[in-house]
Amino acid sequence: LEARMQQAQRLESLGQLAGGIAHDFNNLLAVILNYASFIVEDATGTPSAADAEQIARAARRGSDLTHQLLAFARREVIRPRPLNLNVVVTEVHQMLERSLGEHIALTVRTTAGLPSVMADPGQLEQVLVNLAVNARDAMPTGGRLTIDTAPVQVDAEYAARLDLRIGSYVRLRVSDTGTGMPREVIDKAFEPFFTTKPSGQGTGLGLATVYGIITQAGGTVRIYSESGIGTTFTILLPATDMEAREASPEETAEELSGH
Ligand code: ADP
Repeated sequence: LEARMQQAQRLESLGQLAGGIAHDFNNLLAVILNYASFIVEDATGTPSAADAEQIARAARRGSDLTHQLLAFARREVIRPRPLNLNVVVTEVHQMLERSLGEHIALTVRTTAGLPSVMADPGQLEQVLVNLAVNARDAMPTGGRLTIDTAPVQVDAEYAARLDLRIGSYVRLRVSDTGTGMPREVIDKAFEPFFTTKPSGQGTGLGLATVYGIITQAGGTVRIYSESGIGTTFTILLPATDMEAREASPEETAEELSGH
């Protein structure tokens, strides 16, 4: 039953994806056709470089969109294995430090003795990067980004409330001191192509990707947000008894490419 429900959810999100692509591509094609017709009309005189530039811009945006979409839909390279989330967080720490800029302070707090989780390390990096990029965008004048990990025990009451199984989990939190999200944004945030960012700056795929990765790994992701105070993403991933091999995501990439 669970497998069938997952299948249904996947079909539903694929349907949303298809609708979103059709919508965005339709707009981009309208721009391309429009400016192309200007050039055709102008053909007696000199071709307009500005019109050609508009065509190139719309085509580039279309190409970016397909790349993001492929990254979202691609699932064949996923290699879940027992891993220590502290290792993943520590690996990403330096990269985030560099890309966040000086106006954002980054704090990473890992709790020792974390149980392993079953997931693909590259995918969890993707989750962290997507959440960090959104946090950065929500703090244009600076602020603090805090990432922390901890083991948590989900009891019967908590399990019922969160629609989870009772048991051991690992919690990953990503908090910012940014603008916060109004209720109507929180409600739609995980939908593919939902964005409040200006055209050309947001794809609306960041949180949909996070949601897909975490639910596929058997976890949950929730948003707590207060306007003007900030936003916290709380992820719970089920713990596994299997021992994590302390390998870095880079090593995984090498394994996959056959080295
Ligand atoms: P994108 O970043 O391309 O807009 P996402 O799916 O990553 O797409 O995010 C969807 C929307 O959720 C964003 O446009 C933004 O309005 C909101 N959002 C996401 N993360 C945050 C955050 N940390 N603080 C405030 N708003 C956020």
